[in-house]
Amino acid sequence: MSKTLFSEAYLDEYLELVIRHGVNIQKGQELLISCPVDCAPIARKAMAVAFKFGAKNVHMRWGDDICGRIRFLEADDSIFDTFPEWDKLMMESLADGGAAFLRIEASDPEAMKGVDPTRLSRFTKASSVAMKPYFEKIITGGVRWSIAAVPSEAWAKKVFPNAASAEDAMKSLWESIFTAVRVNGDGKAVEKWQAHKDALNRRRNLLNEYKFESIQLKNSAGTDLNMKLPKNHVWKGGVDIAKDGIEFLPNLPTEEVFSAPQLDGVDGTVVGTMPNVFRGNLIDGYSITFKDGKVVSFDAKVGKEHLEGMIKDIKNMDMLGEIALVEHDSPISNMNILFYNTLYDENASCHLALGSAYPDCVEGGGTMSEEERVAAGINVCDGHHDFMFGSADMKIVGTTASGEKITVFENGNYVI
Ligand code: ZN
Ligand code: ZN
Repeated sequence: MSKTLFSEAYLDEYLELVIRHGVNIQKGQELLISCPVDCAPIARKAMAVAFKFGAKNVHMRWGDDICGRIRFLEADDSIFDTFPEWDKLMMESLADGGAAFLRIEASDPEAMKGVDPTRLSRFTKASSVAMKPYFEKIITGGVRWSIAAVPSEAWAKKVFPNAASAEDAMKSLWESIFTAVRVNGDGKAVEKWQAHKDALNRRRNLLNEYKFESIQLKNSAGTDLNMKLPKNHVWKGGVDIAKDGIEFLPNLPTEEVFSAPQLDGVDGTVVGTMPNVFRGNLIDGYSITFKDGKVVSFDAKVGKEHLEGMIKDIKNMDMLGEIALVEHDSPISNMNILFYNTLYDENASCHLALGSAYPDCVEGGGTMSEEERVAAGINVCDGHHDFMFGSADMKIVGTTASGEKITVFENGNYVI
């Protein structure tokens, strides 16, 4: 990796943000870093930062898009219905032992293009069953975890196809990432994040005070959705607090305030406003229609078979688990770049997720059984996948218990 790609001061500031505020490593804690081999120099630095701030041990879980692709193309067909036991045991034993989990994300958005979609779908099913105990810890704050992105050549070239060279594309993607996470080498990223978290917290608290019975979402792209919210719903955003009472930031960057729809209370159509990457394949030009909370029809100009896989492969993925509000005027959105990466694109746009709701999106949800969560009105599912529908003319109106209508978003931004 050439030194001209970015200033080391920027990278140091970014990695400190990720280790201290993302996973918020504690003295004596273990950390697992998942990272593509292409980004090894970054992972090595992250490891050193984790030790500097008190990690007892740091484990590496290396990945590689190309090896993944070769396996999906060449391996014996029978392996796609199983998930490796050693992998499951590694993740569970680290989680049970109180480790934190950092994922360094740099995926090629089309790493799995041309792979038999049934293989991808069978493997998703197998892994969702095998990894359920770990996934449950992730969504209930049983572990502290964070996802942060760094460029890879394949990803950078997809985002900046007109760059003169791969190196130029990488440089542009680094700059965009630093802008999005409010890092500019002045050493003040932590202070800026505090102010940003305060702003998110204010909106979140206000939405919690309104206790809307339903919200209506509408824009000229064709979204027209009526969404009931569970009686005891909770809006979340900004910092998350794990079960051990310690703050963490699951996503860096994060611009969203989010909650969970009433699982049987969604009616109407949502139209996607950004291409979506699902299992290394692109879905674009798509719309999904709901009745009484369930998907009743869907269409896509690109990747309809992958959208179908997203909705049908896992039980209850045909219901929504998340509604997230993101201003059209945000640092990521203002760059006007399509990142082909959910971590970035979802923070540029209002989004929904099919699949599991975060249990804490209803009062007391973090300690409820799955049956109790369903009774409280939120979806329980072994998957969760975001898709973006925000736009510059998004209008969102909430209706309170007394029937009062409160405009929350006008022209894509908060008016509260
Ligand atoms: Zn979200
Ligand atoms: Zn989500």
